[in-house]
Amino acid sequence: MKFLIVGPQGSGKGTIGEMLSKRLGIPLISVGDILRDLPKDHPKYQEVQDTINGGNLAPVEIVGELLKERVSKSDCTNGFIFDGWARRLKDIEYFDPGFDKVILLNISPGTSVKRLSSRRTCENCGSIFNIETVKPKVENVCDVCGGMLLQRDDDKPEAIIKRLDIFNEETMPVIDYFRKKGVLLEINAETLPEEIFENVLRALNKN
Ligand SMILES: [Zn+2]
Repeated sequence: MKFLIVGPQGSGKGTIGEMLSKRLGIPLISVGDILRDLPKDHPKYQEVQDTINGGNLAPVEIVGELLKERVSKSDCTNGFIFDGWARRLKDIEYFDPGFDKVILLNISPGTSVKRLSSRRTCENCGSIFNIETVKPKVENVCDVCGGMLLQRDDDKPEAIIKRLDIFNEETMPVIDYFRKKGVLLEINAETLPEEIFENVLRALNKN
């Protein structure tokens, strides 16, 4: 089965994707990870770095080709879960692997802002904490390396609202496309990860 997970920032796509990947024994393929882990000797490495450092999304053709390459590997024979693709209609026009189910994690804008604005990132090693849910042992200090925890500009309310606007403008049309195709599953993602995951399994009839 081929799955896609979509949802606004803070809806838990990565967490739920990991849980589903373990349960079903198929890989979670995250566009963010693919770009971050791109080997330095890859022909597109520099181009990807330049766009990301400029604060832009990597070009659809490059990401599309990397994804095609990834799904041709043997661990994808029984299926896979995509996270971070189909953010815009042109993603799907370029590469649509034929998703069997598209899982939309629904949260309100308020929840999105609340979850992301409590996130803190270690300035030294990049570990992520949450002052509401995954608190560091010592306030503002990284458990892993002792570095200082900071709020990234991306996780400040103004930036989150801007990203939500982009989601509504660019990703909602893709969601409508999958709804019309009859493959969309809308999941209430306002609760805790374990409950959200149960909702997903119920919707997939796999609980
Ligand atoms: Zn650290």
